[in-house]
Formats: sequence, C-alpha cells, structure tokens
Amino acid sequence: MNHLIKHLLLTIKVLVMMTALTVSPLIAKTKADVRYGKYKQSGLDKPFIKHQDISPVLSALEQQPMLTIQTIGQSFNGTNIKTISVGKGKTHILIWSQMHGDEPTATGAIFDVINYIIDDEQVDWRASWTNKLTLTFMPMLNPDGADKTTRVNAQGIDINRDARALQTPEGKVLMELLTTLKPQFAFNLHDQSRTYGAGNTGNPATVSILAPSYNYQRDINPIRLNAMQLIVDINETIEGQLTDHIGRYDDGYSHRAFGDTFTKTGVSTVLIEAGGYPSDDNRQVARKAIYKMVLAGIDSINTQSYTTFTQAQYESIPLNIEHKIKDLIINNLTINHHKNKNYQTDLIINFDVYGSQKAKIQAIGDASDFSAYHVFDAKDFNYQTGKSFSINKKLTLTDSVYFRLLKQGYSHFVGDIDKLKVSTRFPVMINPSKTACVLPCNGQTATFLLTDGRGIKFAVINGQIIDLRTGKTLNPLGT
Ligand SMILES: [Zn+2]
Repeated sequence: MNHLIKHLLLTIKVLVMMTALTVSPLIAKTKADVRYGKYKQSGLDKPFIKHQDISPVLSALEQQPMLTIQTIGQSFNGTNIKTISVGKGKTHILIWSQMHGDEPTATGAIFDVINYIIDDEQVDWRASWTNKLTLTFMPMLNPDGADKTTRVNAQGIDINRDARALQTPEGKVLMELLTTLKPQFAFNLHDQSRTYGAGNTGNPATVSILAPSYNYQRDINPIRLNAMQLIVDINETIEGQLTDHIGRYDDGYSHRAFGDTFTKTGVSTVLIEAGGYPSDDNRQVARKAIYKMVLAGIDSINTQSYTTFTQAQYESIPLNIEHKIKDLIINNLTINHHKNKNYQTDLIINFDVYGSQKAKIQAIGDASDFSAYHVFDAKDFNYQTGKSFSINKKLTLTDSVYFRLLKQGYSHFVGDIDKLKVSTRFPVMINPSKTACVLPCNGQTATFLLTDGRGIKFAVINGQIIDLRTGKTLNPLGT
C-alpha cells in the first residue's frame, strides 16, 4: 500500500516535471511588454516622421558596437538609405518600413526594437539568438516621400509597385538586399487607413497582417505557410491587448508588389499594417504592437515555435473591411423640413484627420452598417442650420460671448475677420466653404446646431460636438 502510494506520487511528480519542461522553453524569451517606456524611442510620437527625425537617432546608434550601420544606397533625391544589422547567424531576417513615405508608424517601432535589443539587461536573451540569426533593419526606405508626406517617391512612383520594373533607386536597394542577404524571413511594415475595421467586430483594425501570395491561384507552399504560422505565433503576443482589433488582408496576388515578389523568391514574408485606435491619432498603440510582434518574431524564428501553428489558425483571423469605421456618426437626428416632410436620419461625418482637418458630411441615411470612433445619439434633437455672424467691428470671442452667439443660432463667422479676436478654447468656424444647405447635404461642412424644441443644446462645429449646457466638447477632431 505504502509502496503503491509512493509509486503513484513519483509518477505524478515526473508528469508535472515533463509538463513544466514542455511549456517553458529553455531559451530566453523577450519580455517586451515590461518597461516599454524604457525602449520607446523619443521624438517619433507624431503623425508623420521625416528623415530629419530619424537621422540623429541613426547617428547615436552608430556609436553602438554591436550594431553594423551601412549606407546601402540613396533615394532619388540623394538621401542616404541605411541598414542596421545585428547578429552573426546564418538565418537572415530583413525588416523594412516606410516604403510609403506617409506610413511612418513602424519606423518608430523599429527603433524601439533596436533599443530593446542593445540594452544591457537583454544580454541573456540576445545571446540566445545572435549566433543563429542576423537581423537587418531598414527604417524608412522612402525618405523623399516621407519628406513630402506622400505615398510615392520623388519620381511619383509607388515603390511597392516597382518590384518588377525596378525603376526607383529605393526599389533597387530593396531588391539588392533580397539577392545579397537571401533572407529566410522578411517583415514588410506599413500603415493603413483608420477606416479599416477588424472584420465585423465594430472595431478598427489597429493591426492588420498578411502572408502575401506568390501566384494568382493564392496557393500555399511551405514558404508561405511559414509566414502564416509566424503571424499566428506573433499575434498571440498582442491578442490580450488588442482583442478584436486585428484584421487580415485580402491575399490577392500583385506581381508588382515586393511582399508578393519576396514570397515568390522563397522568403517567408510577413506584412504588418499599423491602423487606427481610439484617441490615438499618432498610432502609438499600433507602434507598440508592432514592436512586440517583431520581438516575438525573433523568438519564434529562433526557437521555431511558429511551426506548431496552422493555416486554419491564420485563416481564422477576420478579414479587414475598408470604410467600415467612420470618424463620427450622429444617429437618429430629426430633420424638420415642411409639415409632411419631416424625417429621421443618421449623419456620417469625415474629419480628414491627416489632411485638411475639415470635417464634412460624408453620407446621409441609415448608418447601421458602420461603426465610428465617435458616436452621438441625437434621437431627442432636431437639426438646425446655423446662421452666419457677420463681423463688421472688433469682437473678442470669449467662451461666454461665443456660447451666447451659438445659443442665438449662429454657427460660424464671416466678414471682416481681422476684427475677430478668438479667445475661446472651443472650436470656431471662420469663413466655411459650404454651410448653407437648408437640409443637411453631402459634402457640407459639419457645422450646424441641434435643438430640442426649447432651445439650442448642442453646436457641431467642424465635426466637434459642443454641449452648450455643460460647456464640454464631446469629441476631438481625431480618432
Ligand atoms: Zn503602404
């Protein structure tokens, strides 16, 4: 009896030990989430990043002995394009960002990753892979486009449609890296529109991923399968933080694109796109997610943990849907026209966050197919066109003066604008291009008033809703 119990206990002990061995890998894993603030590169939390923003960072990294920084080419306008390499292993991983000049988020993430790698505290983790892997980072492949905040390069060419023609110096640089490094894995890092939704979750796709196709049949060979598996593995590191905020891109093959060309050449390529998140115009949530994904990718490739995942898991990531997420939706607004022509409608309002920042009515009607960064239920309110306040003598617009005018039905200012001194913290609309619709109309400036029959309760000024009773602006002109 005693012997039997002892034997049983021993068996349990061995089983527990075996389980512990299988779940905790012997190789050090990143703790990327811990103290991200220590590694987050300063100076890059902005809507657009230009070469002048990263050149001091690159100069500082040149002092770092474990990194090799090389100039591998010039942009069309002659800006040096540099790579930063670390490790001396046989397996090469190529990571590039900002081949579209106006898509900068991952450039920040790349420097965060490098800061993590070179930190003294990561010596054990680093030692686990530096003899097996060589990482080559290329932040900002398109400095000329970054300078002008354009997708295309200085020739007006989309570098990501130049993989076959190779008429851009930047595209040639990337292709040369492909042929000289022969990477086994590549990370192709972009930004996507804030309007992408993560499937039908109602959330923006803060991160979108794709294992690009290598032919029109969208076949899956071992190269592409490895990219899918790697994506599933690295997604796990952000899932808790971004549940239902991850989308999968359509895998239509584009033979002019680099990701597809890389896959065709035998590189397991992972496309990651940074997207929108509420109250995050500079996409710092996506930046941190990409930082974690790239670090997790290093671990996954090092330990080959990606091989345990399946194509089905990859395909269970919801496809993202463009134009699904709007900036502002005002629901159930009553429009009083003539006696028998009253109606209730939703208004979809676009802020053009990264462009003119002029909020306009984008669509009128049932908006129930969409979600938005900001939603306002106007079921108790009527639409009222605002009057123009004509300036002909000096006026100092304090909060109280402004609120009095808004409550009197004025929504915007015209006339001798030099005589207007704006001293209010609330948004003010001066000389709007198009407000004079009797009914709400498409393309109209999103500047109007909401009444409840007893008085004006809300002013919508350039898409920002001001509650005239509480004195609060309910939403910013952003995400
Ligand atoms: Zn892009």
